[in-house]
Amino acid sequence: MTLAPLSNDVVSKKKIEFIDLKAQYESIKGKVDAAILHVLEHGHYIMGPEVQILESQLSAFCGATHSLGCANGTDALGLAMRALDIQAGDVVFVPSFTFAATAESVCWFEATPVFVDVEEGTYNMCANSLKAAIDYAHSAGLRAKGIISVDIFGQPANYDAIEALAKENDLWLICDSAQSFGATYKGRPVGSIGDITTTSFFPAKPLGCYGDGGAVFTNNAQLCEVMGSLRVHGKGADKYDNVRIGVNSRLDTLQAAVLIEKLSIFSKELKARQRVADRYSSALRDVVRVPVLADEVTSSWAQYTIRVKDATQRQDLMDHLKERGVPSVVYYIKPLHMQKIYAQYPTPGGSLPVTEALADSVLSLPMHPYMDEAQQDEIIAAVRSFF
Ligand SMILES: *Cc1c(COP(=O)(O)O)cnc(C)c1O
Repeated sequence: MTLAPLSNDVVSKKKIEFIDLKAQYESIKGKVDAAILHVLEHGHYIMGPEVQILESQLSAFCGATHSLGCANGTDALGLAMRALDIQAGDVVFVPSFTFAATAESVCWFEATPVFVDVEEGTYNMCANSLKAAIDYAHSAGLRAKGIISVDIFGQPANYDAIEALAKENDLWLICDSAQSFGATYKGRPVGSIGDITTTSFFPAKPLGCYGDGGAVFTNNAQLCEVMGSLRVHGKGADKYDNVRIGVNSRLDTLQAAVLIEKLSIFSKELKARQRVADRYSSALRDVVRVPVLADEVTSSWAQYTIRVKDATQRQDLMDHLKERGVPSVVYYIKPLHMQKIYAQYPTPGGSLPVTEALADSVLSLPMHPYMDEAQQDEIIAAVRSFF
């Protein structure tokens, strides 16, 4: 059956997607389909050749000596902490303004996340708040072991200050770069910072696959070897020689094959994301607070997040946008230290004022590299007409 072409006046406008993964797929369909088919035909579904190919391409892309695929970005954090020999009772400093995985993975080991506030400007971990949290841990007699920084919405954290505090206090540093793969900090690509960097290939992340996936990066050969063993049941010479207690956390060959194709267009996509962000910022900066990048930092723009007056204004704006077909999402409406399950862990000072204010006032707008100017203009007009 053939369908008659729709006449122009009944063709509806293309729906505005928050993140348009279908547009991306359309642009690389031939290559992705062939790559998937190739895996189906060679049949090495677990740890097939594409996994290693991807790992060396990821290393070349981000400047880390070692890259290892794993099952998801949450496991990546777990693998990193296991490799750093985390023990029950250890303290790990984490921002509260993040996705649950950052603190959740600490709790897996019966270690203690201590919540830290973020900066007013970048929404990333605040060095002063981190320092206060470290002092708190010392004075409370807790065993401070490490820091997990988060590159929120795609922007690298304040690494000069965080690395200095890690060094001074003999703490390891894991960079939770689930949202920021592709970004740079003062010329250093994300993946080459900290003792271990973790990322996620969840479909909605800047570099996403077609299911769950993640990776760890390190310049330390010893840590790489341990994480490589941990992800396959603590394997030694092979997986039936078990030299440590491990987990099962491999990146599927199929996902690696998809990621190889996506990585080949990633630099182009990052430029397109920057263009979208620049257009938003110049069109909206007089009505809302637009995102601020620190000096000498690039973002991979996992989210484009504006800030309005308060929770009431935000809800009204969301309703207004929804009526005009513009999706928007609040990341993160309930910071971790205010979630019932995480409230049992320490928040030095009792509250995190910046985090709490952000939770009431931030709103993320549609952001992806396939947004054309006409669509973006619609979103901009919808936001502006509210004010
Ligand atoms: C998405 C995300 C994770 C977890 O990644 P998954 O692949 O979904 O497990 C961890 N940390 C942050 C900051 C994230 O945004």
